[in-house]
Amino acid sequence: MPGKKHIVIFTHMAPDGDAMGSSLGLKLWLQSNSTLGCPEVKVIIPSIYPNFLKWLPTAEECIVFASHPDEAKQAVKQADLVFCLDFNEPKRIAEAAELLPMASCPKVLVDHHLGPDYSMVDVVISYPEAPAACYLVLELLNGLASQNLSTDVATCLYCGLMTDTGNFAFNSNNPVLYEMIAELLRAGINKDQIFDAVFNQYSVDRMELMGYCLFRKMKIYKNFHTALITLTTPELKRFHFQKGDSEGLVNLPLQIADVHYSVFMREDTDRIKISFRSQGNRPVNIFAHEFFNGGGHMNAAGGESFSTMDSTIKLFEDHFRDFFSKE
Ligand code: 5GP
Ligand code: MN
Repeated sequence: MPGKKHIVIFTHMAPDGDAMGSSLGLKLWLQSNSTLGCPEVKVIIPSIYPNFLKWLPTAEECIVFASHPDEAKQAVKQADLVFCLDFNEPKRIAEAAELLPMASCPKVLVDHHLGPDYSMVDVVISYPEAPAACYLVLELLNGLASQNLSTDVATCLYCGLMTDTGNFAFNSNNPVLYEMIAELLRAGINKDQIFDAVFNQYSVDRMELMGYCLFRKMKIYKNFHTALITLTTPELKRFHFQKGDSEGLVNLPLQIADVHYSVFMREDTDRIKISFRSQGNRPVNIFAHEFFNGGGHMNAAGGESFSTMDSTIKLFEDHFRDFFSKE
């Protein structure tokens, strides 16, 4: 009788609701699958998740590579199967990328970002038109077995569907998405409670930071339907910035009529992290790739800069007019 199988799931750095939800949902499903012999499943995250996701079932069991590299290494060396969820290239898992070649087992990518790196894994399941990695995980699970989902699995998957679509405000016209939600509701999720856990737990500091960004830091380039918000380290300190506090701020300027592009720059320890958002057929991932070593989806992309805030803003201002549509 062979021993228990070991499975490792990787997801991207600064994990969001979809990264955490898809990884934990898949983990919990696999672990309870008796046909597969209830394998032992470990989720490895490059860096810790934000506070607003700590309620997710078994989130605290994730191995954070930055603080527990040896534990992560051990898990990967033992693995019989590796999943890469919600990212398309090794760079997105930062230093944890050094672990991938250590796995001698098959590796499977399940993702919805454009341009998967085929050399990273053995099997690629890539559907950029999917609204979330959780959508693909649920399709996969339903295809693999017709067992009922547990409420915990369903809760994790709903979290990713909800966050990656801005609570079904964008990327959410596919009717199958709502069939899935019905399935998750039947599995016992409380969608109102999940919304509350993710979106209604802000600190006073975070709300004040939001107000500061909108009142003091938002620059509108009217002719280009573009908004830019920047935050430096001293500004972040003033509002006692915690991981996750800037989540979603980039989306706010899109609520203004005639603003179709929004850019958010935040100083981090060794770089400036940049988020891009757009509405409609206005790709920002190409711009992020061209000038800020990044990428992502057409309407939600990110990148980084290793120079000062002033020169990063200048680089942006020197080029965005050629890329961002005036319509
Ligand atoms: P966010 O702005 O929320 O950090 O990221 C939005 C999306 O942009 C993510 O889902 C991810 O696809 C992409 N993204 C963010 N940062 C980077 C980056 O540095 N490189 C690449 N390739 N994509 C990124
Ligand atoms: Mn995602």
